[in-house]
Amino acid sequence: MENYQGVAMTDGVNRKNHIMPLSTIIKAYHDSWNTVIPMNLGHDRTKPIGYTMLTGVYMEPGKAYVTNESAIMGSKEEHEKMIKMIKAYDDKIFCEEHKEELDTLVRMLGDVLSDKFRVAPVGQAVAIKDKDIVYRLFPEWSETIKDGLADVRDLEPVYTKDENDKKGFLVPGVYHKDGYLLFAHQFFRRSLSILNTTNEEFFNSFEKMRDVSTVEIQLALDMDMVGLVGTEHPELEYQYIRGPHFNDDLDCIPEGVTCHENEHYDNVFSNLLSTQFYWHIQDGKRTFECEELCDRENISFEDGQPMLWGCRYVHSMMNPSTGLPTHLDGAIRIYNDEQILERIDFKTDISKYGKNSEYIKLWRIDNDFSVAMWKELISAFYRENALIGEYFGGVDEKYDQIKKESNEHNSVVKQTNNFAHIELTEGEGVRVYFRYTNKFEIAEDIDIGIYNKDTFIVRGERKVKILDADTVTLLKYLKRKGLNLRMPITYLISFEDMIFNFPTLCCKRLCVADIVITAIKELCQAWVKRQDDRLISFGLMVNLEDESGHISFAGHVNDFVKLFDAIPKLSDVAFEEWIETIYQENNKFKVGENYPDKFSLIHGDVVCFKRLIVHPNKIRKIWIEDGRMYAQFNMTKEERDELLEHKIGSAPFYKINQDRCNKCGRDYTQCACVKFIDENVFDEVVEADLLGLIWTNRNAFCSNEQL
Ligand SMILES: [Zn+2]
Ligand SMILES: [Zn+2]
Ligand SMILES: [Zn+2]
Ligand SMILES: [Zn+2]
Ligand SMILES: [Zn+2]
Repeated sequence: MENYQGVAMTDGVNRKNHIMPLSTIIKAYHDSWNTVIPMNLGHDRTKPIGYTMLTGVYMEPGKAYVTNESAIMGSKEEHEKMIKMIKAYDDKIFCEEHKEELDTLVRMLGDVLSDKFRVAPVGQAVAIKDKDIVYRLFPEWSETIKDGLADVRDLEPVYTKDENDKKGFLVPGVYHKDGYLLFAHQFFRRSLSILNTTNEEFFNSFEKMRDVSTVEIQLALDMDMVGLVGTEHPELEYQYIRGPHFNDDLDCIPEGVTCHENEHYDNVFSNLLSTQFYWHIQDGKRTFECEELCDRENISFEDGQPMLWGCRYVHSMMNPSTGLPTHLDGAIRIYNDEQILERIDFKTDISKYGKNSEYIKLWRIDNDFSVAMWKELISAFYRENALIGEYFGGVDEKYDQIKKESNEHNSVVKQTNNFAHIELTEGEGVRVYFRYTNKFEIAEDIDIGIYNKDTFIVRGERKVKILDADTVTLLKYLKRKGLNLRMPITYLISFEDMIFNFPTLCCKRLCVADIVITAIKELCQAWVKRQDDRLISFGLMVNLEDESGHISFAGHVNDFVKLFDAIPKLSDVAFEEWIETIYQENNKFKVGENYPDKFSLIHGDVVCFKRLIVHPNKIRKIWIEDGRMYAQFNMTKEERDELLEHKIGSAPFYKINQDRCNKCGRDYTQCACVKFIDENVFDEVVEADLLGLIWTNRNAFCSNEQL
């Protein structure tokens, strides 16, 4: 099993040109943060590969990302376990969650149901699969179905309603018929499988033909499926659809066969081998045929018959007197293993083969209609087949951008250099990571708990939890502001760089979180005043209604001051609204464009500045001379050049055993003085263990190392 961090969704304009605001992606994340979701290749549920979980929302100036963590199954055992899990998931979303509606539908259908019916695994509506049920339910009307095609005007399309009760989106492939829902043939679905979503683009185009009164329009229905009215809803599936813009003159396309090979064929994401286009004269009419060829069987039968190959096929004829398309139909051509081999391997082209294959007509339009609609319907029918657009000479403005983004999918952090350091400077804004998690409990008498799950160092064989030493300063300042808390008993580590990684503070009430924000802001103001070029990170957790909200921040102190000056108090607004304001205010900084790489800042469940510890083998010698520390390293010339190029030096880190306040003389962890805030307060380390060195480009002192 391999684990990947990736991006499941981003805000802004998505692949279908829908604008997704931050609130929408937060809602999507909120709905499934604690659900394990089966993951499929290319949105195809017949190709399961593992699970994924949405892990949080990462925000940089200009963009928000819903992050996910995926586990890809490798071994056979893992695969079997996954199939079990998917079954359980399906059972939950299709049966358990819709038990009452299913009961209602079963009652309504009564005797019409056979004893072999089952729940239809579709997300669009609550429905039942039962062989030939539509024939039994509507015996008279069924007689009007010719060649498997029903008159579309006998079926009422279904639309969602928007907030003002106005017509919203089309629920594709779902129709009202005398108090029931009927569904378009399952071969309209991705990979022709009932498990997948139907072809939304096609139905959106097809519905436009309903208003063209001169044409006849027909459609194949799933005669084995009936649904309950009122449960229908569109399914969101953000898969990129190539939108071709091509020439409107069909006459200039030469006759003959053109074959476009799929250069992106990989047998995993895509089983499309090629698409063939054929123009010829039939009965004195210009005729167009188009068929895609795939090499994976995709039609299965419940009774265990061997699987077959189904390929999408389009046939069309032009009216010689008007030059307009006057007939267009779409079908699935079905091949058995022998036939498909012949079709593919012998390179028999579309002009010679296919007529003798079995096929199922899915839709049909007769009488003249526009060339624009003709192209739209063909392209939509062949959604996700980019070869169609390629053939028509389509230009696609968004293709490159999307390609760039999909490369980002499941990306592993690329290390820019061996001494990977984070470069984030003033004006580049704050990085925010926000996630939901289970509610936490907190003792009666305290306002704040400390959570530092993933901060530790390895000492000998043991992992030891640590805190940045100046967490003490922050906590003392919070105490001064009237909050009750316990000082931590964890190891306090002092890193001699210009970075503070504070832990997550679990706040009992929303107003406690507001006090923390104010305290951090005031500390940042003090650092700005001292002209510290400092980076800090910290987290906050608050209990919400059913879960807790965990937000962490990482950025330059100057930017924190600006950001926290501009946001409302958490106790005055809803949590999600507060997040949205933070995002909007942070968007005023320079656009982030994934710099630094988000996965170099997300560690476990927070954003922070990870330090890179110098491997002990690399250290030849450390010594102190005149109160200054010197170090000598074993390294190659390349490594040395890299350090110089990135202005990286080393800095020591210590475990603090005893720390004295210079002002009052007491132990600094115990006294009431607060560094940075109070004048002339600093701590003097009385006893400490040198633990090692880190590589840093933010040395707190001038660099003294010798290379
Ligand atoms: Zn549902
Ligand atoms: Zn291509
Ligand atoms: Zn035809
Ligand atoms: Zn909730
Ligand atoms: Zn003191």
